[in-house]
Amino acid sequence: MQFKDLQLNKHILKAISAKGYETPTAVQTQTIPLVLAKKDIIASAQTGTGKTAAFALPILQLLFDKQDASKKGKKIRALVVSPTRELALQIEENFTDYSKFTNLRSTVIFGGTSIEPQKDILKKGVDILIATPGRLLDLHKQDCINLDYIEMLVLDEADLMLDMGFIDDVKKIERICPKSKQILLFSATMPQKVVELANSILNNPETVNV
Ligand code: AMP
Repeated sequence: MQFKDLQLNKHILKAISAKGYETPTAVQTQTIPLVLAKKDIIASAQTGTGKTAAFALPILQLLFDKQDASKKGKKIRALVVSPTRELALQIEENFTDYSKFTNLRSTVIFGGTSIEPQKDILKKGVDILIATPGRLLDLHKQDCINLDYIEMLVLDEADLMLDMGFIDDVKKIERICPKSKQILLFSATMPQKVVELANSILNNPETVNV
């Protein structure tokens, strides 16, 4: 299997080549077609398997293919929720690299650091937001984030997110987003509480196991 067999467009294939990736990893081969087919997904995949690209590449493609030039300013259309600042930063770096031959923009917000610069960046508008749960809800409460245009929601490292006590925050974030959206849930392990969360929010999901 090659990246070109995964129905990715030339802008994204160019970014993949620029990263030096030669072939897709197992989680990418399995996940990319499902995301492009707009399926909800529950995937068990560890860090290091290439799972970030497995969701970032098809998300970029879906956003790129469906752009409304009439919309004034950018609306956040994809939201990635991540348990830690380090992981959120890594995900954002991935999105920046993979989107460099597109007009799509992303940013990252997390707690433990000054909120004002994050507000300024959000005001400029982004297509993709990567966030830790607490700071996301904080900025939303302050009316600095509009989640009304979310088409895709990614819950990354769901097991860690629940271990860190973010279950209510995650459920709240899911409820704030529009009802009709694609949800991709990634977790290194699948304890009962992750399965329960998945059952309560995912719509007829496909399972990916690597
Ligand atoms: P992740 O599991 O998303 O944390 O990715 C682990 C590492 O694998 C990151 O450094 C990626 O840049 C790299 N990576 C992702 N996909 C590929 C690929 N298809 N070929 C080579 N490296 C990759």
